Amino acid sequence: MIQYRRLPVPMGSGGTVYPTLVKSADHAVLIDTGTRGGFENLWQQLEEHLFLEARPLDAILMTHAHQDHYGGLQQLLERMTVPVICWQGAVEYYSAYPDALLRRAANVEELASRLGLSGPIYDQVISGYDRLAAQHGPVPIQSTLEDGDVFQLGDIQLSVHHHPGHHPHALIFVDVAQSLAVTGDNIFLKFRSPPGVEFDGSGRRVPCLPALSENLMRLAQLNLDRALPSHGPEIEDVAQVAEGSRNAYLRGAERLRPLIEHGQRPPIPELMRAAFGEVPLPYWGLRLGFLLGYLDLLGAGEAYR
Ligand SMILES: [Zn+2]
Repeated sequence: MIQYRRLPVPMGSGGTVYPTLVKSADHAVLIDTGTRGGFENLWQQLEEHLFLEARPLDAILMTHAHQDHYGGLQQLLERMTVPVICWQGAVEYYSAYPDALLRRAANVEELASRLGLSGPIYDQVISGYDRLAAQHGPVPIQSTLEDGDVFQLGDIQLSVHHHPGHHPHALIFVDVAQSLAVTGDNIFLKFRSPPGVEFDGSGRRVPCLPALSENLMRLAQLNLDRALPSHGPEIEDVAQVAEGSRNAYLRGAERLRPLIEHGQRPPIPELMRAAFGEVPLPYWGLRLGFLLGYLDLLGAGEAYR
């Protein structure tokens, strides 16, 4: 029987992220590595559940390149040699870090200007990238996965689903035999996954929430008994939660419909108030992803790219 153990790792914000240790009788794989600040905590848990049994870690699988998921990766690789495996399109992000992060930061700045954001809101939306860029160096990737692949290591067998929307690299790992999936940040029990704000090669924003919404339907159709998300409690009725998530996005979008009818395209602060009321400054970055996602769902995103 393959065991799945979620390892709680503290986040700087006070929350918790759960990398997942997957163990068979003779192999072990870690899915994600948690935060940089929480690394010692992760290491202690690996000692307790793996190294004390004199067992090695065979591979690291990455769900996506957000700081709370790969923050501890470089520290882990300083202590042991283990292959890192990610989505095929994510190799440059890890191996040429922080170039792709800084390119994204430049894209966010240009978008914030195009959207007419200014003052403290602009500063908030574009903040944080320099600090993140300084935290790591490049990480080599040994192997890649894409949608439809099966990751196999001894008895461990995981179907790979590419699930963009929260993040363009996002992978979900499905254990068909146990009707279980390790779902990263794509679905949560008590809140909705924040849609990504992402860009194509020319710096134009691409719609993320329509993709996330579609992928949640795909996930629902798997009718899984159990999902292990990277934050919050485990999920039992995965189809119901996935459909509920998708419906919550659609309801959020509907609140904006009266404002964008007849081709009207009001400024972002007005839309933000209509969708969320007064948004405290620190939440602007997160809420902007939802807002732009809602506009994309309504087919009105073109004016906000
Ligand atoms: Zn996360």
